[in-house]
Amino acid sequence: MGVTENKIIETRTKNVSAQFSMLSNLFYSSSNSDTETDKYFSTLADDMAGVFLSRVQVINRDFTIISDTYQLNKGKLCISAEVNECFNGVNQAYTDKKNQCIVLTQAIKDPSTGRITHVLFATSSIADIFTAMDSIRTVLLATSIILVVALIALAIFASVQLSKPFRQIEDTIEHIGEGGNVETISISGGSEIQAISGSFNTMLKRINQLETSRQEFVSNVSHELKTPMTSMKVLAESLIGQQGVPEELYQEFLTDIVNELDRENNIISDLLTLVKMDSTGMELNVSQVNINEMIEAQLKLARPLAKEKNIELVLESFTPVIAEVDETKFSMCISNLVVNAIKYNNVDGWVHVSLNADKTYFYVKVQDNGFGIPEESLDHIFDRFYRVDKARDRATGGTGLGLAITKSIVLAHNGTIKVYSQVDKGTTFTMQIPLTYLKKQG
Ligand code: ADP
Repeated sequence: MGVTENKIIETRTKNVSAQFSMLSNLFYSSSNSDTETDKYFSTLADDMAGVFLSRVQVINRDFTIISDTYQLNKGKLCISAEVNECFNGVNQAYTDKKNQCIVLTQAIKDPSTGRITHVLFATSSIADIFTAMDSIRTVLLATSIILVVALIALAIFASVQLSKPFRQIEDTIEHIGEGGNVETISISGGSEIQAISGSFNTMLKRINQLETSRQEFVSNVSHELKTPMTSMKVLAESLIGQQGVPEELYQEFLTDIVNELDRENNIISDLLTLVKMDSTGMELNVSQVNINEMIEAQLKLARPLAKEKNIELVLESFTPVIAEVDETKFSMCISNLVVNAIKYNNVDGWVHVSLNADKTYFYVKVQDNGFGIPEESLDHIFDRFYRVDKARDRATGGTGLGLAITKSIVLAHNGTIKVYSQVDKGTTFTMQIPLTYLKKQG
């Protein structure tokens, strides 16, 4: 602002000074005597003052003011440095900001002698420039204030609008943290917010699924643990309630109680295996394992069970396989599949196990010609506590956890497990496991 103001004043000073010097040339154009000159100069000074809205004083060589357009100093002496310098030929034009005027001195020469006879001493007001600049300043200030206020209001509005979806997400997280249940949230906003809201809803869905499966799991566990207890209680109470119970009945009931205790024990140890896998995120103790020998060992353990039903149990090894697996856990997978193939099979049935490999994977197939699994059950076969026929499968002594454990172990080895089955024809489980174990990141 200061620069603009100085520029305007400078331009005004130049203009006034140029015109002033031009007009001063008129002074000697038509005058005769000294008195006439004074009169004429006085009139010219008045006219000049009118043109510039200024005060013009004419000073003669005696430093006497012969004309003053304000009529205040006429006849008085004016001995100032500027006037003195002007008589010595130095004209001046400068700005007096304090008094808001341009100060000018202009020498008037008698053209006939070339001598400086008079000095014009003038002041031209520049108050109008200051007033104009002041109003511009006021307008600018007011505009700036309005702009700043508007910008602040806009920023507040924008930040409230922008933070709204995040507050909604925060409230939802808080609500979930306090134990509340939220299905989905719907948030409107830009594409980024839509993306966050989408991911958040996916997370909510996963949390709800986990919560549902947790509840199902707890209720299943309670149910499964209670069933053997109830049976044992009934058996024991019936023995207590009768008098003179024959020895054989005691034997029979106590055997049943021991069987139920075994069942309870199996469920608890399977549950412990599962819980341990869940809580440690399945830490594998991987080493180079001869898979042929490992399967052979598991079949040896299962043979007495197969013999009970006269089931043929064969291993077909197409190639020697050495792979990086957790031996204990992977043995459990083979055992679960083979024992199931025997359990859910008919007398005189068969169970064929085969082992093959390529450069990346090894493949284990466990095939039986037993009961088979109905199509609608195939999707649930790996769920915890799922059994095709509760009464029948309970009689076989299962816990409904074996396949869930098997699948967790296979997945931990970065492998896959699939099932194919036809009722009354048989079932085939296939596993594909990488020969080299790659630990998952994160
Ligand atoms: P369980 O302890 O009851 O055997 P699993 O998780 O090992 O539990 O198996 C779940 C259910 O899948 C079994 O109860 C059974 O109904 C069915 N099943 C598993 N393997 C076979 C198979 N080879 N043939 C027929 N049904 C099977």
